[in-house]
Amino acid sequence: MSTPVIVRTVEALRAHTRAWRAAGESIGVVPTMGALHDGHLSLARAARRDCARVITTIFVNPMQFNNPEDLLKYPHSEEADAALLATVPVDLIFAPAREEVYPDGFKTVVTVGGVSEPLEGRMRPGHFDGVATVVTKLFGMTMADRGYFGQKDWQQLQVVQRLVRDLNIPVQIIGCETIREADGLAMSSRNLRLTEAGRAKAGVLYAAITAAAEDIRAGQSDRMAIREAAEAIRAAGFERVEYIELRDAATLMPSDDPASPRRMLAAAWLDGVRLIDNIPV
Ligand code: AMP
Repeated sequence: MSTPVIVRTVEALRAHTRAWRAAGESIGVVPTMGALHDGHLSLARAARRDCARVITTIFVNPMQFNNPEDLLKYPHSEEADAALLATVPVDLIFAPAREEVYPDGFKTVVTVGGVSEPLEGRMRPGHFDGVATVVTKLFGMTMADRGYFGQKDWQQLQVVQRLVRDLNIPVQIIGCETIREADGLAMSSRNLRLTEAGRAKAGVLYAAITAAAEDIRAGQSDRMAIREAAEAIRAAGFERVEYIELRDAATLMPSDDPASPRRMLAAAWLDGVRLIDNIPV
């Protein structure tokens, strides 16, 4: 175990990355908003396997929060995060202040069309502009060769893939599998906000979409299987099912073609917490 160096300015970050690049070392970056769990660590471990140098960024990006209350409630735990990252270990933690990323006069927005528009894009206006802008900046700041993202945020992963292709950003995007709790609940910093009773029910989201995907593969109609999943989620005590959709896995457009890769994506509210999940179909 070795302690990662923590840097807070782009200048200090570049001093490290310039030296690494000059030595011919490959660099992997794992962008996060902190409050780290095993899902984040699995990304860092994948980067550790592939790259000579690993950077984890910790930055709660205000630009991607469409809901100000959500931003205020976002957990911060830098010391615990650093201790977890030391177990991987990563080489460097980049944890800039807000002004370092968005200094006075900042005026540029990166908008990815198409894939960012439905689902999360519709429910969270501006969210993917914030993601695409900060990810573009983090790639420029870190000069990374590879970027690691979780399939947990499937649409985000597709947005980032589109972004690097469309803007010729020389970063290879690696999508890593969703890490789950024993009951199937996808690990998320937001899970900490569930009550004990809510936490006990939360696994139903994954169970319901898994059952729907199985039924569809077995020949049931898409619409019927999705309706049953929504009913099961509501019956378990979720306040609201925002969407359950079967989409083309890459474009996120509606797809009724079982021959092309499809993804079932869902968002639902429990205990006032918005949970999302997705699986292949
Ligand atoms: P966040 O800190 O929530 O912005 O997440 C940072 C990265 O970790 C994103 O690429 C997420 O998709 C990924 N991530 C979050 N939770 C999980 C999980 N349960 N399994 C795999 N990756 C995850």
